[in-house]
Amino acid sequence: VKRVYAFGKDAQGNNVTEGNTDMKMILGGKGANLAEMANIGLPVPPGFTITCQTCMEYANADNTWPEGALDTIAEYRADLEERMGKKIGDAADPLLVSVRSGAPMSMPGMMDTVLNLGLNDQSINGLIAQTENPRFAWDSYRRFIQMFSNVVMGLDGDLFENAITAMKNERGVASDTDLSADDLKELVDEFKRIFSENVPAADYPALAVDGVAQFPQDPMVQLQLAIEAVFGSWNNPRAVLYRKKNKIADDLGTAVNVQSMVFGNKGNTSATGVAFTRNPANGDKEFYGDYLVNAQGEDVVAGIRNTSPIAELKEVEGLEDAGRQLEEVFVTLENHFRDMCDIEFTIEQGKLWMLQTRVGKRTAAAALHIAIEMEKEGLITKEEAVMRVEPDQLDQLLHPQFDKDASYDVIARGLNASPGAAVGEAVFSAAEAVALAEAGRKCVLVRWETNPDDLAGMIAAEGILTSHGGKTSHAAVIARGMGAPCVCGVEALKIDAEKKQATVTGTDIVIREGDMVSIDGTTGVVVLGAVDLVMPELTGDLDTILEWADEFRTLGVRANADNPEDAELSRNFGAAGIGLCRTEHMFLGDRKQIIQSFILHDDELIREKAVADLFAAQTGDFYGMFKAMDGYPVIVRLLDPPLHEFLESPRALDVEIARMEAAGAAAEAIAEKRDLMEKIDSFAEQNPMLGMRGCRLGIVYPILPTMQVRAIATATARLKKEGLDPRPEIMIPLVSVAPELAKLRAQAEAAIAEVAAEEGVELDIPVGTMIELPRAAVTADEIAQYADFFSFGTNDLTQTTFGFSRDDVEAEFVPQYLTERLLPFNPFATIDPGVAKLVKMGVELGHEGNPDIVCGVCGEHGGDPDSIQTFNAIGLDYVSCSPYRVPVARLAAGQAAL
Ligand code: ADP
Ligand code: MG
Ligand code: MG
Repeated sequence: VKRVYAFGKDAQGNNVTEGNTDMKMILGGKGANLAEMANIGLPVPPGFTITCQTCMEYANADNTWPEGALDTIAEYRADLEERMGKKIGDAADPLLVSVRSGAPMSMPGMMDTVLNLGLNDQSINGLIAQTENPRFAWDSYRRFIQMFSNVVMGLDGDLFENAITAMKNERGVASDTDLSADDLKELVDEFKRIFSENVPAADYPALAVDGVAQFPQDPMVQLQLAIEAVFGSWNNPRAVLYRKKNKIADDLGTAVNVQSMVFGNKGNTSATGVAFTRNPANGDKEFYGDYLVNAQGEDVVAGIRNTSPIAELKEVEGLEDAGRQLEEVFVTLENHFRDMCDIEFTIEQGKLWMLQTRVGKRTAAAALHIAIEMEKEGLITKEEAVMRVEPDQLDQLLHPQFDKDASYDVIARGLNASPGAAVGEAVFSAAEAVALAEAGRKCVLVRWETNPDDLAGMIAAEGILTSHGGKTSHAAVIARGMGAPCVCGVEALKIDAEKKQATVTGTDIVIREGDMVSIDGTTGVVVLGAVDLVMPELTGDLDTILEWADEFRTLGVRANADNPEDAELSRNFGAAGIGLCRTEHMFLGDRKQIIQSFILHDDELIREKAVADLFAAQTGDFYGMFKAMDGYPVIVRLLDPPLHEFLESPRALDVEIARMEAAGAAAEAIAEKRDLMEKIDSFAEQNPMLGMRGCRLGIVYPILPTMQVRAIATATARLKKEGLDPRPEIMIPLVSVAPELAKLRAQAEAAIAEVAAEEGVELDIPVGTMIELPRAAVTADEIAQYADFFSFGTNDLTQTTFGFSRDDVEAEFVPQYLTERLLPFNPFATIDPGVAKLVKMGVELGHEGNPDIVCGVCGEHGGDPDSIQTFNAIGLDYVSCSPYRVPVARLAAGQAAL
């Protein structure tokens, strides 16, 4: 196996690079691109890269070197010395190197780099002689001891920073640069002393002299220890945690780059900097970045001194040529990588050196702008431009955010359930939220979790914060649907709704009603106090990219919307119809009384009156909905949730009765309440989500679906008479056996025919079903005989396939499953392969039963880019998602087609 790869030139100026940019898995990102830059003729300080695979072999063998590896490294080291015409540790003219980590995936700040390696008490003299600059030489030496001690030996960096501060105080100077060569020489002695005091000699017998660890003078020992430390850093706890969070595999390893040093701290014609080839914040085509004159790499990022903008570089005396050359390098890199790059560079006495490049990170706005501009410049194709934008990133553009310049303290974190930020007074009940909104005040609704009853409050509030429930909990789904920011499952939050306050576990922080709170649903952060919000700028770039995506995609995109406002918003975002219009919300608010009297009364007359009232109300709802979506399909789902969701909680009634008794209320009134409680209790179920809901309601209470179908048909007939083009479709939920659908479809068709006759209008309203139970998926051929369309309800299908309660799992065991990698991802966020198999089977069997059947998805997965990829492959006709996800889904569907 080849373990080491050279990069850069030899002594004659020939390129002897062995790697290239496609070898990131072997050379790491940094090593592969150093090689690539050398290959395209950019000035790269020569060096060599030890492979990631060597790192893994070393780690897996309990930190021992594979046979022969150290010999190969020694050969490449000798070769580098020959190429540079200098030897490491030489007392007359020493070669100094950096030892740099570099994994296949960028892991910023996770692993370390050592600069100026090779300095010792002899080679320092060579460096002084060569540079005629003792101050620079001693500064390099003290930096080396400091970095080596910190990175390789694990000593606390503050030990050294404190010594520098003490020295500055003693000399009465403010800045590091004010320390003289002699001061720095003294610091070197001090640093060596700190080293000996803090490194346990027992752990490093090779460094021990008379039982005290000495700073290693042998450059070969320095080099080997530094390489081993970089290898070791792959498994340091923060790197392991970072990989877990970012889903990076543990078996990739890191490469080590040993590279000859160039110096940005050799005086006023030397500098170091970082740059982007375009503006990574807004995508503008301009040179972007910062540099520092007379400084070494880490100074720029550490923010020790104020940096200057890169555009000024060519105006600085002695740096003009390097500045101009850097601008050429920007162009070369963009033409070569065909993307925006970020860059690290150093100028040594007027000469430019490239130390790193990679494709640069950017905001959503910049990603759009850069992709479009590069297409116009002919650098990339339209297809590539569409692929360049991360669909999930678009969310950033559609919602307000915390102002980047604001400072605030995070008091707790939860799930980032619905993007965007919100600020308002904390309120602990939906009623209070409504009251505040009516008074023109902004509020954040804080609940243990929400239920359909909280809807009015959720609409009234700026944002929603819950301590319980996952990303598909009621709060999360509804908030995403409304485009309202939501942070849910903040377990540290102990909410006492009664007392109207919440405490943060493990702190003495209390949130009281009326306190200002801020939440960021993009990151899951909760802040006590008001954080300034900013709205990201919406540009025409978004439209352009989405139109391009539309040119490629074959998967339709519809929206889940329950009211005309949301329907209109979806239209504006480009939805081609409503894939799911839930009707249960139409039963809340004032109408709850009506549905309650239907459920709770046995008297036929009262029930009929209730149904008539509901009919009138629903007809109005559908009229508004179909009008807003004129000419586009609107799939209306008949009543779905368990009836008890419309009833008062028996527990609350129990409390009320106790109160009435204590207050000495009339026996009659108490008896009446008790009857009500018993009646409601009789609807209680052990597993309501597996109980009396969906089409089962329609089988038991046929009058309900008939009423709803009549309302749909009546609204349609009226709009038709007005000359509009309403296109409703009727969807029957939670079917498990074909006869259920056969029966309900026949009823629906009869009702439609009746209304058509009454209104004197021809009505053709398709009837279909949701596929959300495994039994329905595996018998889809039978069910399809009665269905014009299928809509896969992947939330319930995931719940019933796994047997996971979607309202509880994320707070309970799923996080542990994810940490232990028993599950690769949350199946309620991204479609699970097992559930996808059922969808596929449903689509295939569905077409056997009805070749013309139209198939879509209306679960939360419909707005998830990874799931969209899967649905596209399965061959679904469309996905349906919440209005704010429509742009995301359009882009993801375009990408899925490419
Ligand atoms: P990171 O991955 O954290 O960016 P690097 O390996 O890129 O770490 O090193 C950080 C900085 O150290 C570089 O940006 C550069 O300024 C400096 N550096 C690294 N190697 C050299 C070198 N051979 N010559 C000069 N400076 C270097
Ligand atoms: Mg770097
Ligand atoms: Mg369902």
